[in-house]
Amino acid sequence: MSWAYLNNAFHRKEEVTISPYDRGFLFGDGVYEVIPSYAGKPFLYEKHVSRLLRSLNEVSINKPEQWENLKSIIEDLLEKNKFSNQIIYIQVTRGQESTRSHAPDKLTSPTLFIESSELTTDLLLTSYKPPYINVGIEEDLRWTRCDIKAITLLGNVMTLDNLSDSGLEEVIFYRDSTITEGAKANIFLVFGKKIVTPPVSNNILSGITRNYFINLLSQNNFNIEEREVSINEIEEADEIWFTSSGKVLQMVHKINNKIILEKGFKNTIGHKAIELFRQDILV
Ligand code: PLP
Repeated sequence: MSWAYLNNAFHRKEEVTISPYDRGFLFGDGVYEVIPSYAGKPFLYEKHVSRLLRSLNEVSINKPEQWENLKSIIEDLLEKNKFSNQIIYIQVTRGQESTRSHAPDKLTSPTLFIESSELTTDLLLTSYKPPYINVGIEEDLRWTRCDIKAITLLGNVMTLDNLSDSGLEEVIFYRDSTITEGAKANIFLVFGKKIVTPPVSNNILSGITRNYFINLLSQNNFNIEEREVSINEIEEADEIWFTSSGKVLQMVHKINNKIILEKGFKNTIGHKAIELFRQDILV
C-alpha cells in the first residue's frame, strides 16, 4: 500500500482526491519540488525547500499552513512508503476557489500535496553506469520564467511528446542560438578538460543537482565554467550530460540517433563526476 499527503492528512494513493475548482487544476497555478531520498535520508533537503520557498515567493502564493511541519510530514511519508530509496514530490497550488477567475483571491489557502514513490537506482553499486540517452535539439518554446519551478509544463510536455515518436528521451533546448537546458534536466558540456554549463538566468531552472556538481567538481580541481554556450558548439563537445534530482547524471550517447560519444564510459569526465557523487552520498 502506498501513501500520499493532502492538506492535513495521509491517504492511500488510490483514494486521494482533489476538487476541479483547485487553481492548480484550472490554471496550472502552482509550484513543485522533487527531492531524492537515499537510505531514508532526503538528499540536499534544505536546498530544495529554499527553492520551493523562492518559487512560492516569485508567484505570490502563501506558504501552506503546514509549512513548519513539512520535514516531519515528509519523514512520516517516507516511513509509510517504506522503500529504502524514494523520490519525493511536493506540490503547492494557490488553492481552491468557488468560481473560475483568473485573478486570485489573496485569502485563498494553498493546497499542499506530497507523495513519494520508489527510486529505482543502481547508483550505490560499484558497477554503476549512468543512463546513456538519445536526445534531440529543439527551439525552447517555454515561457520566460523557467527559473520558477512551476507545475505548468506544457512546453516541456509537447516537446518530449513529439521527440518520443523518434525514440528520443531528452532535448537540448536553445533560445536565440544559445543553449538553455533540457526539458527535465540541466545541461553540461565537456570540451577537452573543460566543463561548461549555461549560467543561471530566467531561462533555466537553477537545478539543485547542477549546483551540487558545480561545487563538487570545482572543489576537486576540475576546470568548470558557467557561461553561455552557442548551439554551434555542440559539434565540438566531447561529452554532454544532463543532471537532475531523479536521474543524477545522464550521458548523451546520441543526438537525433547519431552517436556522439564514442569512448567508453570509464574514460569520461562524467564517470569521474559520478564517482565523486557516489563517494559523497555513501559517507
Ligand atoms: N531543468 C528542468 C526543466 C527540470 O525539470 C529539472 C528537474 O526536474 C532540472 C532542470 C533539474 O533540477 P534539479 O537538479 O533541481 O532536479
